[in-house]
Amino acid sequence: MLRTGVFIDPECLLHDPGNGHPESPQRMQTLLQLLRRQDVRHLPHTMFQGRLATQLEVQRVHTPAYVHRVQQTEGLRVRLDNDTMTSARSYEAALRAAGGAVAATEAVTAGQVDNAIVLCRPPGHHAEPDRSMGFCIFNNVAIAARHAREVLGVRRIAIVDFDVHHGNGTQTAFLHDPSVLYISTHMHPHFPGTGAATEMGEGMGRGRTLNIPLGRNHGDAEYDAIYGSLVSRVLEGFRPELILVSAGFDILSSDPMGGMTVTYDGVLRIVGHLVNAAELLSKHRLVMVLEGGYTSEGLEQGVLASLEALTQTIRVSDPGPLVRLPLGDAAKYLDIYREFFTI
Ligand SMILES: [Zn+2]
Repeated sequence: MLRTGVFIDPECLLHDPGNGHPESPQRMQTLLQLLRRQDVRHLPHTMFQGRLATQLEVQRVHTPAYVHRVQQTEGLRVRLDNDTMTSARSYEAALRAAGGAVAATEAVTAGQVDNAIVLCRPPGHHAEPDRSMGFCIFNNVAIAARHAREVLGVRRIAIVDFDVHHGNGTQTAFLHDPSVLYISTHMHPHFPGTGAATEMGEGMGRGRTLNIPLGRNHGDAEYDAIYGSLVSRVLEGFRPELILVSAGFDILSSDPMGGMTVTYDGVLRIVGHLVNAAELLSKHRLVMVLEGGYTSEGLEQGVLASLEALTQTIRVSDPGPLVRLPLGDAAKYLDIYREFFTI
């Protein structure tokens, strides 16, 4: 069994984008209640509260002008973009979400725990260096990656994003960076519109972005095949010293923002394959950071399956040779991927 840290900060409740908004404080209430459940408490884990991210940490990803703009919303309800509203204490909640990701990365890198999951909000992966987008204020996973790179001395980091939406902000942050491999599976076409298979990084970062766009209704079998073979092989080729995961539970069936049919078992297999990759490549070091997931049931199933995989209470096996697997739409892009990746 592995030692898993669960980072949750009740102050993330403070961000309230308003009545009827899908990214509501209720999501955090659901998570706090879930952690009190007997079946979750029986899984071996240690709880941590996290901390506020510092200005310096946030500005490793975001421009000072944008950070200042968010700070100026303190005490106010401001529409940052079409989808992203602030409430009086959203700035603080956003710093707590990013700070949780940074603290979990520190704990895993220092060996205090083997791996971790950060249950935070607002989510982060749409946030661009100079603006908010799609419910996201600060890019939590990108801030954690920069901290690992620049402060903790981690040389190669993989960010794996299984949210149903493409993480445009994360892709932008590391587009030219050869030390960070960004891998995303997402529904396409869908919000935010980016994430075509041909977007593979630029300049020095060419071959350090792998986008796997999928049509609607991909489910457990396709995700198992894609993560157990394609994603695992690409990770093996890159040899990350740390794996960060943008964990979007909006891939689960019936999510109002999604269109996929993944169940509890599919999440168990996705995360299980990533835990296996971390065992092989990064001394178990893996940090999951919550992104989307807009039903209570989806959040509960996703987090429970993730914890069972992270703790290795349940282990998953290699699904077998790539050519025989139901890769879904990913099968269309293998020739494009072979330009940069051994698969
Ligand atoms: Zn999403």
